[in-house]
Amino acid sequence: MRLNCEVSIVNRLGPSFSMRNSSKPARASLAIGRKESSKIAAGTAEKTVFLLVCTAKEKNGARYKIKENLQQVFSKFVEKGKATIRLKEPPHDLLINKADPSSLKSFLSILKLGDKELQKVKLMGLTPAKASDIEKPKTEMTITRRCDYPLGKPFPSTLNKLSISNCALLRIEARILQIKSLACLNFANNQLKEIPCRMARLSTLSELVLHGNRIREFPTALCNGVITSSLRLLDLSQNEIKLLPVAFSNFKNLVHLKLDRNQLHMLPVNIGKLSSLRFLSVSHNQLTVLPHSLSKLKLESVDVSENPFLHQNNWNIVNKLAVPSLQECSGIAVKKHRWSYSSEIIPLSLCVFLDGAKQCLCGNYCFASCIHHIVTINIQQLAHAVVSVCSTQNHIPAEGFLCSRKCLQRLQSSRTGQWR
Ligand SMILES: [Zn+2]
Repeated sequence: MRLNCEVSIVNRLGPSFSMRNSSKPARASLAIGRKESSKIAAGTAEKTVFLLVCTAKEKNGARYKIKENLQQVFSKFVEKGKATIRLKEPPHDLLINKADPSSLKSFLSILKLGDKELQKVKLMGLTPAKASDIEKPKTEMTITRRCDYPLGKPFPSTLNKLSISNCALLRIEARILQIKSLACLNFANNQLKEIPCRMARLSTLSELVLHGNRIREFPTALCNGVITSSLRLLDLSQNEIKLLPVAFSNFKNLVHLKLDRNQLHMLPVNIGKLSSLRFLSVSHNQLTVLPHSLSKLKLESVDVSENPFLHQNNWNIVNKLAVPSLQECSGIAVKKHRWSYSSEIIPLSLCVFLDGAKQCLCGNYCFASCIHHIVTINIQQLAHAVVSVCSTQNHIPAEGFLCSRKCLQRLQSSRTGQWR
């Protein structure tokens, strides 16, 4: 009978003899087993039952006699995986924690059996625990050479940080995406061409680094999964991405976004909805304008350097307000009331239409009938602290969509082009 848990040993005589009172909690493997007694009476090979406590420090284990030595077992919190075994000699209390409740229950029930009953139970010999039972579960793994990549061997299910870089990896394997507690994934400098859609289900992932790959597309499916709530950092720099989906603005908790050295021609028009975003870098892309909604964000730093921004004077209204169609009116209502929709309940073309809704700086939604304008904004006013941009060009064109003449007047009355 074996039990894997955390144990700290308290010496009850500790305080009176000014000795160290208790040991630090450590991963342990507890076992009940028999060993031949050293005092074997002639002809009677009596076997004594022991409790063996193995930890990483004490691999062979501390041995405690059970017969007439068990003072008390405290099992009030057994349902929480906790219990205390009080021994007479040596005067030790074994504080058990983080055990599987049902295993702990059956372990204690054997321990509490009377001497006679215990003799009848089939018990194993006393052997030290396996290293995997007493070592801390592996939570981090870093692979930087292709020869170290575990082929045919599973990844530890306890990992929460996994980094596989410079391994010429062509795809992210499904067995990696099955690890439930992943918080940080780093696949920098590989040969990845796509991001698997299954990644959308990683509900604990907060950092995703895909720097230096050959990714061309950011899948829309990722923008509709649970990952949108957990992700804080996304590094897509040095890839071949041309466009981000409109639904990218669903990553509400994103704080860091790195998009440097891609082939982006524009940023999502609703990027201003990424309300947690503080650090944004989009240097070395093909941007000619920025989305105007960017001015709604409270950025700490922004880097838009090395982009071929248009040179233009102040205002340019691309199209004017028209009477919205019935489809547009319905679309505005769907977006306003946040009714959920999917291609299972309405045609896919309608989903694409609804996903393409633009948000006015006032918060209202609009479609084709809106005031599409380009206005220059002062990049220095976009971020709190660090702004890195070509020193000669602080005024950058920003593209926006306004729902009404009232919103146009409000924006035009602001000299800086900022929405106030
Ligand atoms: Zn408006």
